[in-house]
Amino acid sequence: MCGIVGYIGYRKAQEVLLQGLHRLEYRGYDSAGIAVVKEDGTLNIYKAKGKVSNLETIMADKEVEGSIGIGHTRWATHGEPNDKNAHPHSSQSQSLAMVHNGTIENYHILKKALIKHGYTFSTETDTEVLVQLIEYIKATNKCNLFDAVREALLQVVGAYAIAVIEKGNPDTIIVARKSSPLVIGIGENETFIASDASPIVGFTDKVVYLKENEMAVISRNRPLQISSIADNRPSKLDIQRLRVSVEQLEKGGYDTFMLKEIFEQPETLKDCIRGRIVEEGKRVILSGVIENRERFIHANRIVIVACGTSWHAALIGKRVIQEMCQLPVEVEYASEFRYGNPFITDQDIVIAISQSGETADTLAAIQLAKNKGAFVYGICNVVGASIPRNTDSGTYIHVGPEIGVASTKAFTGQVTVLTLLALCMGQIRQTVQPEKVEEIAQALLKMPDTIRETLKLNDDIRRLAKTFTYAHNFLYLGRGYNYPTALEGALKLKEISYIHAEGYPAAEMKHGPIALIDAEMPSVIIAPSDSLYDKIVGNVQQIKSRGGSVVAIVNRGNTAMAQLADYCLKIPEVPECLTPIVIAIPLQLLAYYIAIYKGRDVDRPRNLAKSVTVE
Ligand code: GLU
Repeated sequence: MCGIVGYIGYRKAQEVLLQGLHRLEYRGYDSAGIAVVKEDGTLNIYKAKGKVSNLETIMADKEVEGSIGIGHTRWATHGEPNDKNAHPHSSQSQSLAMVHNGTIENYHILKKALIKHGYTFSTETDTEVLVQLIEYIKATNKCNLFDAVREALLQVVGAYAIAVIEKGNPDTIIVARKSSPLVIGIGENETFIASDASPIVGFTDKVVYLKENEMAVISRNRPLQISSIADNRPSKLDIQRLRVSVEQLEKGGYDTFMLKEIFEQPETLKDCIRGRIVEEGKRVILSGVIENRERFIHANRIVIVACGTSWHAALIGKRVIQEMCQLPVEVEYASEFRYGNPFITDQDIVIAISQSGETADTLAAIQLAKNKGAFVYGICNVVGASIPRNTDSGTYIHVGPEIGVASTKAFTGQVTVLTLLALCMGQIRQTVQPEKVEEIAQALLKMPDTIRETLKLNDDIRRLAKTFTYAHNFLYLGRGYNYPTALEGALKLKEISYIHAEGYPAAEMKHGPIALIDAEMPSVIIAPSDSLYDKIVGNVQQIKSRGGSVVAIVNRGNTAMAQLADYCLKIPEVPECLTPIVIAIPLQLLAYYIAIYKGRDVDRPRNLAKSVTVE
């Protein structure tokens, strides 16, 4: 979480930084701030609680000259989200300014030692301790900024991506990373830094991803220098090309990023499937699987690790892989896996799923699985992120930048990739019938049209949502492939409307949640015409006979449910394992419009941030 940006070049730093912070705002919006060094060497810091727009308001009448600066949008981990705790933080003598993404775990001990040396602290953050430590080292060792930062980082335990500038030095930014991401954009006579590539897009397409435990000097006059923090050994520059356009980062006429991303799904799924279904729908090819054929043929077990929405996709993946590949699959929360002393062998394949590819718990789970000898396969969206760089192999979902904090198109992309993975692996293991592969692959090829059809429910759902703004609780029920879809539907509603919602396996309702049913508690029932349809009708009857209202999601041909449920949303028919992709659409729209009627900021729901780079 937290977004950091930096700029050095010939433009007005203030403008580049504020634009960059807007693009990174999905990572946190507890506060925002920038620090700029003017040509005369003065260091100016501006910060404000809340969103980047608040910072812009306080800066509206200020013309900050200066072509070097750093900025931050915060998701607080240490200290309340207020003006004081906002980054950039400065050192005691006000000579340094620093932004930080991550957490300094030993900040207490370091703070105590600095207090003994006469340092006083004006914030509750862990970050302030680090910037003070850098100043202390610089003063005592009489060294330059780079050496002081390096020495300080050797004393720090924790996670960080940092950028530091100093008064009197309008030519240098020092950056470093450990566990939190940092990208450097190399332009003509200008350099950018950011937590992800989005602030760099439109300025240059040449980027370098700082690797784990590396630091760099970004200098106005000298080429980029990267070295390892531990021994100061220079690293080779690995310049990569960015393939994201400015349009992909804008709302494109929609009111919110979330709505744009919901409506983009026909195209994003096309991109996700492109080139992966061949021979007129008879074969599925994922290069990450084919290139490691033997590992996939001889695997004993698959363990999927993920968090949040990705964990729901993982639960769907479990079913489809078990069905197509005839081998056991387990799903774990990455945060539980990493501390759970899991039993993993070198015959296991561990699949790690994360939209951003930077989720801290998932990265730690990957490391653990690798240490135990497992083959680790990543499924992620952001190209070049830490997960693809730290796994043995993997697949991108290719759904383009997802900016709305509540995940939509990444979820459908993840389920699609997991289905492709199951089919590809099933083929090489010869555990799936060719007819089955063809049936599902053909349906996937038609998926963009199916989703386009499903999106026509938009107006009905908008009207329906208005009737539910009264609710304080919601129940989402589904079975089989759609039990995880129910979890995801409930999560969407919670995240953006702040209405409490629970997802449950439909048949479990009678073991507890049925006690909650009354006229005030609506239920969303996922009931496509699949192998469990008849069972779920019984659940609808139980809810209706207790006065609860029911929104049922059924297939188009279903006329019977209308006699029972209060509202029916009808979706096109697809093979059972693909129903979660289609059903996700009405669930996303329902959560979206309920949140909009409740006046919520759907793109930036309170307390959340998109890329969870802290534990
Ligand atoms: N620990 C820092 C703070 O609370 C940075 C937080 C983060 O990166 O999420 O301000």
